Amino acid sequence: MKIEVDKESGFCPGVVSAIRKAEGELQVRPSLYCLGDIVHNSQEVKRLEEQGLVTISREELQSLHDVTVLLRAHGEPPSTYELAERQGIEIVDATCPVVLQLQRKIRRIYENEPSAQIVIFGKHGHAEVVGLVGQTENSAIVVEHDDELSKIDFARPVRLFSQTTMSVDEFRDLSAAIGRKMKNPDELQTFDTICRQVANRIPHMREFASRHDVILFVSGKKSSNGKALFEVCRAANARSYFISQPEDLGVEMTADATSVGICGATSTPRWQMEQVAERLKALANKK
Ligand code: SF4
Repeated sequence: MKIEVDKESGFCPGVVSAIRKAEGELQVRPSLYCLGDIVHNSQEVKRLEEQGLVTISREELQSLHDVTVLLRAHGEPPSTYELAERQGIEIVDATCPVVLQLQRKIRRIYENEPSAQIVIFGKHGHAEVVGLVGQTENSAIVVEHDDELSKIDFARPVRLFSQTTMSVDEFRDLSAAIGRKMKNPDELQTFDTICRQVANRIPHMREFASRHDVILFVSGKKSSNGKALFEVCRAANARSYFISQPEDLGVEMTADATSVGICGATSTPRWQMEQVAERLKALANKK
């Protein structure tokens, strides 16, 4: 059986940098708080927690004083920085530069164009979206599906942005749908702020999935880009399986396969895909 671990799968630069920052801090202090999961992968979170990382919720942050807290790649709204300042909390900021740039862009338009409505194509409640909406004093309109367009006043100017991990095609469709409804289409400005680290993986993943008999897609269950990329694999190869750890692998999954491709999300560590490959080899040798 030929086994190939996809070279292009695994952490994006934003996640690599956040994890490096956490590991660097944990070398000089015994523990470090992290606001929310540092990455949507419970095995990687566990690995870092064993080194001293303590994952906390927003509610838990409210009661902390004079500690150090890492902000993950998704970014945070201004209210988090204000709270940290009030409570003497030192911030280790691992916001991805791509997200930071988007936050600044939204803020600039919010401050300079008071008549415009800021619309964000993104997932309700997603941490990155919370950080983006926070740039507008929570006035931005979040649209996840086109049936939510009634929230927009089409007689006023619209500035449309996207959460960095959304689908490029869906963003285009949404822009077109808004454009058709605008009273004056010239008053719609769209900013394609989708990160190509995710978007560019789609054609590659399609090709990778179609050249193997079976695909083992490794990802945490909470990862939204994991779900999206798995769907790309499944559309290209019906024998695609979503697994979160090597133990999820069953012999029946790869029965009669002569080539197996192992790939994953931007939140999947390479070591985890390698572990799946090792387990697969061990199972194949037992036959
Ligand atoms: S997907 Fe892109 S924007 Fe998001 S953390 Fe990774 S590099 Fe940054």
